[in-house]
Amino acid sequence: MKPLFLIAAYLVVVTLPLILSWLTGAPTRAVHQELASGLGILAFSMILMEFVLSGRFKSISNGIGMDVTMRVHQMMARTALAFAVVHPLLYQGTPSGGPRPWDPSRQITITTGFSDLSTGIAAYLLLPGLVLLAVGRSQLDYKYETWRLMHGIGALLIAALLLHHTVYAGRYGSQPVMIWLWITMTGIAVGSLFYVYLLVPLRDRNRAWRVMSVTPLTPGQWELTLAPKDHHGLDYSAGQFVWLNVGHSPFSLKENPFSLSSTPAARPTISFMIKEFGDFTRTLGQIKPGTAAYLDGPFGHLSVENRTEPGIALIAGGVGLAPLLGILRHLRLTGDPREIRLVYGNRTEDQIAYSDELGAQDVTYVLSAPPPDWQGATGIIDAALMDHVFSTQQYKEWVFVLCGPPVMMDIVENHLLKCGVPSHRILSERFYYD
Ligand SMILES: Cc1cc2nc3c(=O)[nH]c(=O)nc-3n(C[C@H](O)[C@H](O)[C@H](O)COP(=O)(O)OP(=O)(O)OC[C@H]3O[C@@H](n4cnc5c(N)ncnc54)[C@H](O)[C@@H]3O)c2cc1C
Repeated sequence: MKPLFLIAAYLVVVTLPLILSWLTGAPTRAVHQELASGLGILAFSMILMEFVLSGRFKSISNGIGMDVTMRVHQMMARTALAFAVVHPLLYQGTPSGGPRPWDPSRQITITTGFSDLSTGIAAYLLLPGLVLLAVGRSQLDYKYETWRLMHGIGALLIAALLLHHTVYAGRYGSQPVMIWLWITMTGIAVGSLFYVYLLVPLRDRNRAWRVMSVTPLTPGQWELTLAPKDHHGLDYSAGQFVWLNVGHSPFSLKENPFSLSSTPAARPTISFMIKEFGDFTRTLGQIKPGTAAYLDGPFGHLSVENRTEPGIALIAGGVGLAPLLGILRHLRLTGDPREIRLVYGNRTEDQIAYSDELGAQDVTYVLSAPPPDWQGATGIIDAALMDHVFSTQQYKEWVFVLCGPPVMMDIVENHLLKCGVPSHRILSERFYYD
């Protein structure tokens, strides 16, 4: 789906409860009270939308990219938190207490019955905790899978608490049409978790894969190859990624995103280029051929299929080569007539993977810590190097595909934009989006 359509759809869904609340025609109150309700309503609908902005829905993440989806998820979570924090404070000075017979539309008073408010207070305390734990996750010493589980359970709990609070304590939320809307929206949000963690594994349990080989590529980098077990394999575009689970039940939370470094033209086997990083990736060398694997995908928008530009620039840093290798292999194997140039940066020479396959033609190798006899480019992939490799004409016409460390991506993206390359001709995938 196109980004503009997705933005419009997001805005419509998030503001729908606000608009419908307004249309219920309840008598208006003081501005600060209406603002308080409005912020509370917006915060709740944004929190519910966070469930579908989890990066696991192809219609979203394939349209704008997984990294952008996750960045929007993070930004919206912080915005919703700010709205939620301000929401009760704006009611200051409003007479409170139980429902008054002389104020049935709660124009003058707000409900402060304990059971109606308690769920709101609980969510009010839990929400900052959930957001802060996510923001500071990398500084905290616990496993990524543990954090994911806690994040999911916390989000479920907050959604349930807010539904109760909105329907019982909310002046607008207690209107019949709003009750149905909130129940439907909460149902879809919670259902999306069940879809990802229950229905998708149920579907995929009959589509197992088996490990064919695990081959060392360089110190700390491996090639993992899988073959389908009794099914025809995966339909994907070169450059996409999957959520991979090796050696666990299909219902396990132990799954990680990895780009496919193989080409669809080499089906049915698929392969990955993986760098040792943490718990799972450091154990790659111990995985035995024959081990069962499951995958969910393909995801991602890093594809040059159906693009009409005359040339393709692939800019890779380290293991960022993985998706670009898939694209390069596909272009070469299918005899694609477009011009191609790969710029591949590493720190040291022994980190260069697949050098025999990549060859020297159409490839610029860059090392930041080269050996004395190194003949290739040196330094990092920056503006000067880009200008050395690409001509003004190529900046004007080619599509640029980027994957690598965040610093490299920032430098190259900024430089391309400065050189007049429009953002629709820059495709990028970030492996880490904290
Ligand atoms: C779209 C995408 C494609 C990727 N492709 C590749 C690739 O082709 N080759 C490669 O080597 N690496 C790739 N990565 C990075 C890879 O996913 C992480 O290095 C890997 O998950 C680390 O797992 P670990 O258990 O070894 O480390 P851990 O110590 O568990 O995690 C280290 C960090 O990796 C990230 N991470 C771990 N598990 C997950 C998860 N389930 N979901 C999201 N992030 C997670 C988190 O930022 C975490 O802090 C990709 C990441 C993304 C988002």
